Amino acid sequence: MSGDHMDVCGLSEAELTAVCLETGLPAYRGRQVFEWVQRLGAADWADMKNISRADREKLAGRLTLRLPAPERVRVSRDGTRKFLFRLADGETIESVLMDYSGDRSRDRVTLCLSAQVGCAVGCRFCATGRMGFRRDLSAGEITGQLLAVTAYMRRADADFRATNLVFMGMGEPFYNMESFLRAARILNEERGQNIGARRMTVSTAGVVPGILRLAEAAPQMGLAVSLHAGTDDLRDTLVPLNRKYPLAVLTDACREYARRTGRRLTFEIALTRESATEAQARALAALLRGMPAHINLIPVNPVAGSTAERPTAARAAAFRRALTKRGLTATIRAEKGVDIEAACGQLRQEFNDFQRNKNS
Ligand code: SF4
Repeated sequence: MSGDHMDVCGLSEAELTAVCLETGLPAYRGRQVFEWVQRLGAADWADMKNISRADREKLAGRLTLRLPAPERVRVSRDGTRKFLFRLADGETIESVLMDYSGDRSRDRVTLCLSAQVGCAVGCRFCATGRMGFRRDLSAGEITGQLLAVTAYMRRADADFRATNLVFMGMGEPFYNMESFLRAARILNEERGQNIGARRMTVSTAGVVPGILRLAEAAPQMGLAVSLHAGTDDLRDTLVPLNRKYPLAVLTDACREYARRTGRRLTFEIALTRESATEAQARALAALLRGMPAHINLIPVNPVAGSTAERPTAARAAAFRRALTKRGLTATIRAEKGVDIEAACGQLRQEFNDFQRNKNS
């Protein structure tokens, strides 16, 4: 290992061990630091009780330990919590703890992580897309979201632990592939969070090289593709990336992913009045025929400034029936955290509103 100050949250146990050896410390210090940061949630070097002060000072000379700072936490009626984090350079991102009840008998606690500040893809109904791309997150800023949420939740619930991760927050993870994969690998490590790759899902707007790379690099991770439409003319208007990777190319890559990994994919469709039609259902059925897939139908959420309109419940149900009668499996997804703008496509509006209120 070399380099100046490195972010301790973005290093694996093996890398931390290498840093310790380079710094003249015993190898086992690497394991201790990794456990303190990744499992026990140390937010400060002083928390690491079994490491001598002299050794902590040496490590602090090489490594930065700084978790994203929660600027604001909003709690939805359904238990969803949206965290607004401020990063070292002042940028802000959001992470969403979905549908959290605190009930131990429920084994699934899912956290949605961001991969970028803003997003270059610019999907029509998405608030993050409207702010444009600002920068990639480092691996440490990605793992740091989970570590910071865990530290925050443990103030009230000492046993809090996220069991499932979805990389579906702000940004396109496949445009920040190396940091996203590195973060996932670290969160998978046994002495850290130990979250199995099968309990992680990444969502893409359809970056074809990323889909193929995922099949190689993390074949056990779940893949969700934001499809949104069954025809190129409609998808071009919803997801501008479709001009680069049109549906035929995208679905070929999805078939290849399924072939290489043996996994079933999820396709997400944000339902609007335009997309919830019989003709679109027919086109989708032709496109996805024979693919091992599940379709999530998500009636669009209100986003200020968006022209996309939500279909009626009856129209959404009819669309689902039009898919299932053609042999596809589809569910209308219950939305989480709409009242706190934590649902799909709603992230990022929040901070601007928050600042406005603070200044008024
Ligand atoms: S939906 Fe995802 S890919 Fe599309 S603009 Fe929003 S954050 Fe980016």
